[in-house]
Amino acid sequence: MTFATLGLIEPLLRALETLGYQTPTPVQAQAIPAVLAGRDLMAAAQTGTGKTAGFALPLLQLLTMEGPKVAANSARALILCPTRELAEQVHASVAEYAQHLPLTTYAVYGGVSINPQMMKLRKGVDILVATPGRLIDLFRQNALKLNQLQTLVLDEADRMLDLGFSEELANIYRMLPKKRQTLLFSATFSDDIRLLAGQMLNDPLSIEVSPRNVAANTVKQWVVPVDKKRKPELFVHLMRKGRWKQVLVFAKTRNGVDALVDKLQGLGINADGIHGDKPQATRQRALDRFKASEVQILVATDVAARGLDIEDLPLVVNFDLPIVAEDYIHRIGRTGRAGNTGEAISLVCADEVNMLSAIEMLTRQTLTRKMEADFEPEHRVPDTDASGQVVKKPKKPKKPKTSGGGGKRNLGKWVDSGDAAPVEPSIKPVRKVPVFNTGPRKKK
Ligand code: AMP
Repeated sequence: MTFATLGLIEPLLRALETLGYQTPTPVQAQAIPAVLAGRDLMAAAQTGTGKTAGFALPLLQLLTMEGPKVAANSARALILCPTRELAEQVHASVAEYAQHLPLTTYAVYGGVSINPQMMKLRKGVDILVATPGRLIDLFRQNALKLNQLQTLVLDEADRMLDLGFSEELANIYRMLPKKRQTLLFSATFSDDIRLLAGQMLNDPLSIEVSPRNVAANTVKQWVVPVDKKRKPELFVHLMRKGRWKQVLVFAKTRNGVDALVDKLQGLGINADGIHGDKPQATRQRALDRFKASEVQILVATDVAARGLDIEDLPLVVNFDLPIVAEDYIHRIGRTGRAGNTGEAISLVCADEVNMLSAIEMLTRQTLTRKMEADFEPEHRVPDTDASGQVVKKPKKPKKPKTSGGGGKRNLGKWVDSGDAAPVEPSIKPVRKVPVFNTGPRKKK
């Protein structure tokens, strides 16, 4: 199958040739004809599957082939993304695909001045990429009208809900024209996403290019159990041992990012960090330098790293496990993209056992554990498996009490009797661990 057989027009084919895309990925093969035919779409696609081109190419074609010119302060298509970085990245891809088309594209997001965005919108843009909060601001200030909108794309919809954007999405929903095409993309499909899809989509075609909630199978994943306080030391040890060249590292909190970056920089390691407290320009600069291999280790929180597309990223390290199990899939999706293989290593301490269990349950796999010599944890990480059960260390059978005072003196008698030893299962499930994603979270 080629992009030409999917019915794409020549200017798009030319752009794809320049980009070196030869064959459509599975999500593209399914999404492109459906979007061209005007269908709504509900697509479960992992990160790195080529989903951006899956919606952007047919969207660009429809806008080129039909519809009136864009009016002032209007947009003909809107792509909603959860974070600024993703909005920038999606916009960059859309602009590349549109390079030979007479269409305008633009991205708006918070954290930067709104005035230049308002100016830019005056003439109208064909495709607007936006984060939900800034879109609403622009709409409320009359800088943007949505009555000409013909297509809405919800990209990484699960993440938008995780970031607490459900209210914003409900507001945007009220701003939209009733007659429109809606495409919803999500790496994972929770009940909340299905509810959102039920409201926003009209008789959608469901596309599922990979098994539900299964992590990218091009990524080799394993876990190194370690005590919490020794994680930085273990990280440096593994880095040196494995001669890591370019690593994206995920830490749970902003403080965690800063502390690890300080530690690494203190050792003369070329590291930088991105998180929500840093200004957008600083985040973008760190990312650009990492992409250009000028920074070796980029430490990030989930929010800041969302949707990053870094070519051939060989390794992702979870310095901390994510609180939301689905984030694990997003994180490791930063490597093993577009058919390349990658590695994802998680440093896991005893405190994180429930998170590990939730990840294993979600991804339906038991992650291999590799103990690192000299870093064996004092606080053992209990066994886990894909059933979602945390397994406690087998208990030693209790010594039976004897009327004669017990102790070693009588042990032989009980053990030798063969049938009288207390029966205790060697492995005992203690409780079911829920997947952590129980509802919208606060914005980080
Ligand atoms: P996405 O899942 O949209 O973030 O895309 C992941 C990466 O795959 C990006 O770097 C795209 O440029 C690349 N890509 C998307 N589609 C194709 C294709 N058909 N052939 C080669 N690379 C592609």
